[in-house]
Amino acid sequence: MMTLTCDIHTHTIASGHAYGTIREMAQAASEKGLSLLGLSEHGPGIPGTCDPFYFKALDVIPRTLYGVHIIHGCELNVTNDGVNLLDSKCMKKLDYALAGIHTTCYENAGMDQNTDNVIAFMKDPKVCFISHPDDSHTPLCYPRLVEAAKTWHVALEVNSSSFRKPNRLNFRENYTEMLQLCEKMDVPIIVSSDAHDPFWVGMTREAEAFLEEVHFPERLILNVEESRILDFIGLSEEIFG
Ligand SMILES: [Zn+2]
Ligand SMILES: [Zn+2]
Repeated sequence: MMTLTCDIHTHTIASGHAYGTIREMAQAASEKGLSLLGLSEHGPGIPGTCDPFYFKALDVIPRTLYGVHIIHGCELNVTNDGVNLLDSKCMKKLDYALAGIHTTCYENAGMDQNTDNVIAFMKDPKVCFISHPDDSHTPLCYPRLVEAAKTWHVALEVNSSSFRKPNRLNFRENYTEMLQLCEKMDVPIIVSSDAHDPFWVGMTREAEAFLEEVHFPERLILNVEESRILDFIGLSEEIFG
């Protein structure tokens, strides 16, 4: 059984359809024994999410809460024209970003174009992770996706909440193909809860069971160790004081 100590894809009330405060999320992370919590509010394009200005004042938040190290991200929306809706001043304030397709603000453009659009986001140096690349409603070409992840130093996510959602098409088959390629090409992954409530922080059991089922190597799972995540996104541990 692997032990994951970091959850870096989570949402607070600032995302508009999530229900915990930063402190409630941190407290939950602490109770679950996590060492690192990443808050990744939805970016512009998701109904009801925070104004971009929200991301400009993140440095008022203590870097350690309830003994848990806090890092700040954003889950950007991959767009149909490949353009980032979060301006560069806000991007600069983030420790990292994830980018993902959300069908509330994305129109399926076919496998090739969807893949191009995701890759366009990988090229931003702040984008370190691609969230839930698993849904055949917006199909992706996995050989191209994994190769681009390697080129642009991006890790691909296995999202535990996808295993609980009724509407994600072929996600098991897609993750199987993606993980085989990641292993072959030495591309790291992250495992995330995508918690929208404190209850779900660190709840990655489904994804962990799946990774064991497909014998995915632990050496390529970043959130096994906090230092792997920090190294990958280029953050020094010194920020936590
Ligand atoms: Zn998402
Ligand atoms: Zn999310």
